[in-house]
Amino acid sequence: MHYSDQRSILPVIIQNPLLPTRYSSFHQINYEIHSGFTLDEETFIQKALAIIDNRLLDEKILQNMYQICGTSGCLFAPGVWSRSKLAKNKEYSGIHDLLRFQLMCLKLEIEENRFPVIHLYPTYEKSDTQAEGKLGCISCISHGSKFSIEGAFHIKLNQHNLDTTNEQIGNSIYWAGTIVHEMLHNLGHKHQINDYTDQWQINVFEKCFLYNGNYVS
Ligand SMILES: [Zn+2]
Repeated sequence: MHYSDQRSILPVIIQNPLLPTRYSSFHQINYEIHSGFTLDEETFIQKALAIIDNRLLDEKILQNMYQICGTSGCLFAPGVWSRSKLAKNKEYSGIHDLLRFQLMCLKLEIEENRFPVIHLYPTYEKSDTQAEGKLGCISCISHGSKFSIEGAFHIKLNQHNLDTTNEQIGNSIYWAGTIVHEMLHNLGHKHQINDYTDQWQINVFEKCFLYNGNYVS
């Protein structure tokens, strides 16, 4: 099942870029850019992935989200919460903690160099849809003090809207945010259809990511 996103948020970010703290070669995330993208598109996607590599697991972004959402804003695909078995884990206090648990799992996987692959596929559609993330195709499962991860990230990017001629850093950050949003769909997080308001964790997390942990709703 694919969850389609028609989104246009915060174009102001593109005018007002927020520089990432550092650029470095990939040391964390694993990804695979599947065939069908142009060379320019591939280079552009790699720039966005470098920002994800740099920011995704930064504590301050998650903290920023919880400052805004508190314990609300959770909406999951069916079965996602029960599959996580997080209800039995006393270190976590409820459904709002699922994202915290998932990011902790991903962080520990990085340390073991086992970060699940982010598969990126091209799609072409003359519409506002920018990306599509398969819903709930990766699970983080709690086993007491241990955990396991099943599946991988699967994301389609609409070439119709990938504007590789815009070389401003803000454009790369914007697309990094789009990929992160779809990664959260992959982890089972949802918002109501076409609702990109701050009512939902997934939307707020994306904005906190875009603002590098300094988002104010
Ligand atoms: Zn979405």
